[in-house]
Amino acid sequence: MMDIQDDALLRYSRQIMLPQVGYEGQAKLLESHALVIGLGGLGCPIALYLAAAGVGELTLADFDTVELSNLQRQIAHTTESLGANKALSAKRACLALNPHIQINTATEKLANKRLLELIAKADIVLDASDNYTTRFAINDACIQQKKPLISGAAIRMEAQISVFKGYLTDKPCYRCLYTPEGHDDETCSESGVLAPIVGVAGSIQSVEAIKVLLGLGEDLSGQLLLFDALAMDWRKLKLPKDPACPTCKRD
Ligand SMILES: [Zn+2]
Repeated sequence: MMDIQDDALLRYSRQIMLPQVGYEGQAKLLESHALVIGLGGLGCPIALYLAAAGVGELTLADFDTVELSNLQRQIAHTTESLGANKALSAKRACLALNPHIQINTATEKLANKRLLELIAKADIVLDASDNYTTRFAINDACIQQKKPLISGAAIRMEAQISVFKGYLTDKPCYRCLYTPEGHDDETCSESGVLAPIVGVAGSIQSVEAIKVLLGLGEDLSGQLLLFDALAMDWRKLKLPKDPACPTCKRD
């Protein structure tokens, strides 16, 4: 186990004092590597919270640049970072918060081979993308590499979060829930989203990531958490594994 320096003990003290985390758990987080795909509304709070919590290595992937209409909800980016690549902009914000972690960036559109490489190097993957093509590609690559996938989505005043471990015999994957056919990409640019809704989803994704990394409690694998802000209603649905799923079925 790595030694945690004195100033880091103070920085992470409120987490270390949790009996479920402790010194050992914090050391484990500092040795963990999370891949965050998409540094928009979900990815910004995810990256900031994982950086603040002391996940020792983050890889931030986004090819897009910061636009004015992003600033309403993508809280790692600032007016100054307009026009900058989102992964680089988020890296700056995360390092300002915690200069003691390592942050890698991927600023190009991820071809499948590159996606597989990035996932292979990470302990956990957070899908903060905004389209089905990317979501399916990430899911398939995570199953191939046997990496837990923390998935989130937010639109209008609703959010949903789940954890996918489709490489396990009893756990579903993203494709058990959705099929690629008949899905229009309904995006925030067309349907709108209330600013803090993406924060709710991204924050829960970071909670689940830390729980999975440390093996704490019960994570959302096999379940879908649905949030309806208007009714302030939270629901959890059971997600069974689809025995005919082309991606995660057992031969
Ligand atoms: Zn599946």
